[in-house]
Amino acid sequence: ESGSAEQGVYTVGIDTSYPPFEFQVGGEYQGIDVELIKAIAESQGFEIQFRPMDFVGIIPALEEGTIDLAIAGMSITDERKEILDFSEPYFDAGLTLVTSQDNSEIETLEDLDGKIIAVKSGTTGSKFAGENREKYGYRVAYFEDSPSMFLELANGHADAFIEDYPVIAYAISKRDLELKTVGERLNDEKYGIAVLKGQNDELLGQINEGLQLLRDDGTYDEIVNKYIKNQG
Ligand code: GLN
Repeated sequence: ESGSAEQGVYTVGIDTSYPPFEFQVGGEYQGIDVELIKAIAESQGFEIQFRPMDFVGIIPALEEGTIDLAIAGMSITDERKEILDFSEPYFDAGLTLVTSQDNSEIETLEDLDGKIIAVKSGTTGSKFAGENREKYGYRVAYFEDSPSMFLELANGHADAFIEDYPVIAYAISKRDLELKTVGERLNDEKYGIAVLKGQNDELLGQINEGLQLLRDDGTYDEIVNKYIKNQG
């Protein structure tokens, strides 16, 4: 039984700034994750309260019980499944390498020798970068949130960064950033809603039931299409 779910209010960890999944407009949380979890909570009759944090803090917060669940563009991985239980996958993401539009040097991972790659701490992108560092001969610079990582490239301090494909596709389309994705997606990670392992079967059951209802009645598509056109 999760401790902080007193009075039926679950605290939901979200990433600080991760459009189109979570972001703030005039103090209001918006985005695909935000709307999905609100709709799930409504369908299952529980209340939620958002707690934005750096992505690297989310799993520790679940372990400490300061949040009850997390929806943060979080990829389902075997490593995380050792401490977390995930909902059914709700979004196909996958990592991609990103450079500035005018970079003609970097076309594959092989071109990263001697370069600096920016990543966000605690993410699967950061893990990928760490695991392949020696193989490709780049250095890794760590950031706390995606906007800081984007800025590092814009400032010319990093040559490339690794980000989730839908996040960078959205950033390019919405904000006209002078960025481009390089090559094929690096993997086919999928997002899941996370709770602490083995202690939240009832909540997880409600989350999965809510998710299925949203898929069946078209709400899921409505929410995604509101933010992303021609989802591929
Ligand atoms: N999907 C990536 C992960 O799970 C990145 C998530 C994020 O930056 N919010 O690590």
